[in-house]
Amino acid sequence: MSIRPYRDIIRRKSRQINVGDVAVGGDAPITVQSMTNTLTSDAKATIAQIQALEEAGADMVRVSCPDEASTAALKEIIRETRVPIIADIHFHHKRGIEAAEAGAACLRINPGNIGSADRVRDVVKAAVDNNCSMRIGVNAGSLERELLEKYGEPCPEAMVESALNHARILEDNDFFNFKISVKASDVFLSVAAYQGLAEACDYPLHLGITEAGGLSSGTVKSSIGLGMLLWSGIGDTIRVSLSADPVEEIKAGYEILKSLGLRRRGVTIISCPSCARQAFPVIKTVERLEERLAHIQTPLTLSIIGCVVNGPGEARETDIGLTGGGKDNHMVYLSGLTDHKVATGDMVDHIVELVEAKAAELEALNASDEATEAQVSKQIA
Ligand code: SF4
Repeated sequence: MSIRPYRDIIRRKSRQINVGDVAVGGDAPITVQSMTNTLTSDAKATIAQIQALEEAGADMVRVSCPDEASTAALKEIIRETRVPIIADIHFHHKRGIEAAEAGAACLRINPGNIGSADRVRDVVKAAVDNNCSMRIGVNAGSLERELLEKYGEPCPEAMVESALNHARILEDNDFFNFKISVKASDVFLSVAAYQGLAEACDYPLHLGITEAGGLSSGTVKSSIGLGMLLWSGIGDTIRVSLSADPVEEIKAGYEILKSLGLRRRGVTIISCPSCARQAFPVIKTVERLEERLAHIQTPLTLSIIGCVVNGPGEARETDIGLTGGGKDNHMVYLSGLTDHKVATGDMVDHIVELVEAKAAELEALNASDEATEAQVSKQIA
């Protein structure tokens, strides 16, 4: 029994697959991914976008491969980037083979849509030969005609049946290194489809609410859908689909996972909305801190609270805290305890320095723990 059982999330037991060197499913951390929106054939632009996504913390990145020029560019893209690359293939089995041969770590492909059994066999062979996994991606907007006729409209049962039909084709080819998604732009439909699929198989699930909308509306919609599923233990990798810069998708994905305690990365800022009691401009301060602390990867917490109503309480629970005080004297807390005061003009620079120092301290501690662990394992061996 954990200390705070109301925070426990018991993850669905899924089998584990590999997407390049990143494990998906089983007890692997839930990964965050996004997709480029550059022309894949423009390798330079695509590499730049993938590198920006890597910087933001993407665990893997998907690129569309609609034509031969795109799969031809893949080799260079893969060579110049660190994260595993997922090639998005629709209908053309040749693009799938080319992408696997170019070094894609995963193919997003629906085997039922690429034609004859021979074609499927060829794609599976290319995937096996190149240690490439797959994702079956069912979308409510493009369900097979027979299923629409059978069920009358896109519904959870039709989406699960479609996913299992595609899965069976891969299983018949002795291929099991795949994950599945059943996305819809409707939150209810998507959630119900994922719940059904989670019951029906043990493949790792890639979660997403498709075509969720713009930065703000899409983030809210995705947070509700993905949050509901993740909270109930469903989901092994996520993509937040936004009509926005893909980097925003990564940020939103991490915020969802961080809110549920499923992943920790970077600084989690706890801040108040501000009101007439604020002793310094909270909103502007938080905006500037978010910008200045974006490079920190070490998980730590920071509270920025406008006054003593909630400041001391929040600061007790965070690594570094700031509470607005009278006469331009704001209290800084370290590890939950009052430590010293700072004036508004120096606040942002000072907090950035404190966070950077704390991150360095935690990293050093981590490194020494790892070294001790390695030493102990060596002695036991
Ligand atoms: S913590 Fe203080 S400044 Fe912030 S919203 Fe609450 S009362 Fe207002």
